[in-house]
Amino acid sequence: MNVLVLGAGIIGTTSAYFLAKQGHNVTVVDRQKSVAMETSHANAGQLSYAFSSPWATPSLPLSLIKWTLGGTSPLVVNPNVSLETIKFMYRTYKNCNPNSYEINKSRMLRIANYSQKTLIDLESKFDINYEHRKQGSLQLFWSPKDLEKAKQDMAILKKFNIQYEVLDAQGCVEAEPGLQYIRNKLYGGLRFINDYTGNCYLFTSELYKKCLEMGVKFEFDSHIESFSVDNNKVSSVKTNHGELTADNYVVSLGSHSPKILSSVGIDIPIYPVKGYSITLPVLNDLDAPQSTIMDDKNKVGITRLGNTIRVAGIAHLTDHNSSLREKSLHSLKKGLNNLFPHAAKETNDINFWTGFRPSTPDSTPIIGATPYSNLYLNTGHGTLGWTMSLGSGKLLANIVSGNEPEISLEGIDMSRYKYSNKTNLNYG
Ligand SMILES: Cc1cc2nc3c(=O)[nH]c(=O)nc-3n(C[C@H](O)[C@H](O)[C@H](O)COP(=O)(O)OP(=O)(O)OC[C@H]3O[C@@H](n4cnc5c(N)ncnc54)[C@H](O)[C@@H]3O)c2cc1C
Repeated sequence: MNVLVLGAGIIGTTSAYFLAKQGHNVTVVDRQKSVAMETSHANAGQLSYAFSSPWATPSLPLSLIKWTLGGTSPLVVNPNVSLETIKFMYRTYKNCNPNSYEINKSRMLRIANYSQKTLIDLESKFDINYEHRKQGSLQLFWSPKDLEKAKQDMAILKKFNIQYEVLDAQGCVEAEPGLQYIRNKLYGGLRFINDYTGNCYLFTSELYKKCLEMGVKFEFDSHIESFSVDNNKVSSVKTNHGELTADNYVVSLGSHSPKILSSVGIDIPIYPVKGYSITLPVLNDLDAPQSTIMDDKNKVGITRLGNTIRVAGIAHLTDHNSSLREKSLHSLKKGLNNLFPHAAKETNDINFWTGFRPSTPDSTPIIGATPYSNLYLNTGHGTLGWTMSLGSGKLLANIVSGNEPEISLEGIDMSRYKYSNKTNLNYG
């Protein structure tokens, strides 16, 4: 079967890999010159299998008020707010309740767990170097209230049999010696023993080489413009280089997926939540993070990648405006200095970067069939696309091939959004 995968980020590339493994002739199309040049390029580097959590928490509305009053909000909303932004905020708000949180977190964990198993299996087959470390991750608590809030998460983790440790301040310093300078400010932390870290760009580039070895073709520098449909099927994809045809089509265009899909009556609620990262050289190994540290209060993730430290965070709601915001640069630097004051070398070369998280209001990706019988989605991975990528790619390949999926599809495909199908077609 010929399959066209649209998008060569981490999601398109993992999809292509598993489709090729199942024997399909795969072509990947992307507007960039190589893989992982957009949102998959310089993310926080966390393979946060156990930490997989929706953005919409029951405490988000109150936190927003506190952040705004404190003048240090990790959420920034563009003053000329668009209708798309309002829709995303409203739909996210509707998920800020304990029941939705539990449902959404369980769905995310299902995919994340599967992704970790898939990575372990992949690594048993070939060496893949992506500056990875397997030393767990640490979510910091600043007060007893933070620990209290994390109890709902712990209950869900127990259900999924996911290992974690509750640490006091000293335990945090033992896990991450660079935190010794702020030991007195810390209350404790939750350590996810089996989480990993790694460079998503390097990983995608390595998988790209494997794809080439398996005969996958990549058409770079190609702008995808629209689909042509005939009855209930996609008949071709129009690009700036002409039309491409295949038996099946997979959309993995990250935060740009809705635009092309809306032209054929599919209205999926993916919003580009802009984030930023900086990457700095390590000054002193023991004063630097060893793995990933999540500071939920300031919404930054700090990760060790080789001899560098990646600091990422901020949720900026400004549609697809890709300008680099100076204030965000300062908050990321502050976020690092607050936790690891002696970790990084003073340098002007800090690779200030921005990317758009393809975010759904329920933080769960959209994987599976559409009302068109040969069109599939693997998109909407939001804050955790790197973490959920391998499971998503394998799941998608099984769906396209008509094989029995290895995890339940409940709540994962687009049919969970009642308003998403505007095609007058029924799901196949
Ligand atoms: C600041 C930040 C920190 C993050 N940290 C983490 C983390 O620590 N762990 C984690 O798991 N996740 C993290 N994420 C999320 C993760 O990076 C994303 O979920 C993931 O990269 C999405 O991958 P994707 O392949 O769907 O999208 P992308 O990587 O954006 O790929 C989409 C591809 O589609 C192509 N494309 C789009 N439109 C067109 C078109 N019209 N024609 C042709 N090509 C097109 C683009 O060129 C691109 O290559 C973070 C994100 C941000 C912004």
